[in-house]
Amino acid sequence: MAKTKYIFVTGGVSSSLGKGIIAASLAKLLQARGYRVTIQKFDPYINVDPGTLNPYEHGECFVTEDGAETDLDLGHYERFLNVHTSQANNVTTGRIYQSVIEKERRGEFLGKTVQVVPHITNEIKQRMQILGQTGDYDIVITEIGGTVGDIESLPYIESVRQLLWDLGENNGIVVHLTLVPFLAAAGELKTKPTQHSVKTLMESGIKADILVCRTEHELSDDLRYKLALFCNVKREAVIQSIDASTIYDVPNMMLLEGLDKVTLKKLALPDKKEPDLTQWNAFLQRHKNPKNRVKIGLVGKYVELQDSYKSILEAFIHAGAENEVKVEVESIHSEHLDSENIREKLGHLDGVLVAPGFGNRGIEGKIEAIRFVRENKIPFLGICLGMQMAVIEFARNKANLLNANSTEMDINTEYPVINLMESQKEVTNKGGTMRLGAWDCKLLKNSNIYEAYGKENISERHRHRYEFNNEFKDTLEKAGLRCTGVNPETNLVEVIEIQDHPWFVGVQYHPEYKSTVANPHPLFVAFVKAALKYKLNKK
Ligand code: GLN
Repeated sequence: MAKTKYIFVTGGVSSSLGKGIIAASLAKLLQARGYRVTIQKFDPYINVDPGTLNPYEHGECFVTEDGAETDLDLGHYERFLNVHTSQANNVTTGRIYQSVIEKERRGEFLGKTVQVVPHITNEIKQRMQILGQTGDYDIVITEIGGTVGDIESLPYIESVRQLLWDLGENNGIVVHLTLVPFLAAAGELKTKPTQHSVKTLMESGIKADILVCRTEHELSDDLRYKLALFCNVKREAVIQSIDASTIYDVPNMMLLEGLDKVTLKKLALPDKKEPDLTQWNAFLQRHKNPKNRVKIGLVGKYVELQDSYKSILEAFIHAGAENEVKVEVESIHSEHLDSENIREKLGHLDGVLVAPGFGNRGIEGKIEAIRFVRENKIPFLGICLGMQMAVIEFARNKANLLNANSTEMDINTEYPVINLMESQKEVTNKGGTMRLGAWDCKLLKNSNIYEAYGKENISERHRHRYEFNNEFKDTLEKAGLRCTGVNPETNLVEVIEIQDHPWFVGVQYHPEYKSTVANPHPLFVAFVKAALKYKLNKK
């Protein structure tokens, strides 16, 4: 078996340059050439995983099949590659230290002083190779979070240096992503920040093999030559990454720049066939040439930050393309909604999605939004907290359960239609203790959910502590709620709909995590379709 090859992606000059998208695009091109590729992310913060991070701090928390709470870049990896990631694909400094300290307590280093070098770096190196050693991949791309020169990144950079040395020539390379800023006053692109960040990398003993330069303007030949000369890379290894109108254009842009070709050359891998991007380009074609448009409201409390609902927004792009419809998502802050302004805020929409979330803030606005779409028969999709709020709204306004609530919001509520599951009651630690990862669900025929999936048995990813309280199932069903999806083992209600509404679906799970370019999520596809139907009937 051929040896697994390693690509390390580092960032310089500034954060937010889109390392995740570059890594995913390169992976896509290599995959389209027939290579088996995976991407992993190493993050330099001390949280053991991003599950405990506020979305305002770090954007959405992405959840994998095996229940890892991970960085949102893993969502991009899955959406681009259509391959599942796992716990092993996201490692943080917190996790590295946790396992080294546990080893120390077990006595595994008995007699030794435990240090950053070699103990932390050995742990990092070992974890960097876990996926490669499975034999499932020809190429492993490792994205190093943060920016070179950061104090936090140092152990990672040192680990990359050592690993490159261990792996030997042509088995590991470094792709360094930098910014080439445009100074408007001078009317010029500037290479100096890139030169400095390459120099910083050099000080740690790493030579960049390929430079990917993020820029707002085309890099001229002269500028490319200058970058190559001063950063000590081949001319063909200076890759321009100009701002794109959609992230899904980036693989084609990288193809034009030859990023995949130069990568294969450096790794001494044959550039077998040209990348086959037929399916990808067909998606782009549909995405860019919509035949219609729908307006969907995204009601949530983290709407100020686009990254908070990343997977939902991307799932709408996939589902829109599938329907040949442009989905215009209008962000609506749930805290700003009340019975007075609800028509003005939601009346013009063709569909409403109530987002996942935690805690009390903004929930009455979500409930108000749900009442409005239920009464006005506007297509509705409630995800996780959105589904729970739909149950509460229905209980209060249709089943006479006055002030019904979730015990998350009101521990003393008379009608706890959503409450903590039994297995959660003893849990005190917050990190990694929710109901996480993939769970089975059986769908009821003759329902919108069944129609969306076209099958009875599904599996979807979860991330929550609270559940539909089965004690109220009869009462709610008698009032017109339908429990159209249930976990076959635990009997937990996973999907609710309501009678007497064309398309009203609440799901306890997160469909958005499983939507990819190659496999747009059927529930989002059906929701967009319902919104289009609603819009066309309205006319
Ligand atoms: N806060 C709710 C719970 O923990 C919903 C979580 C979510 O929307 N992801 O059950």
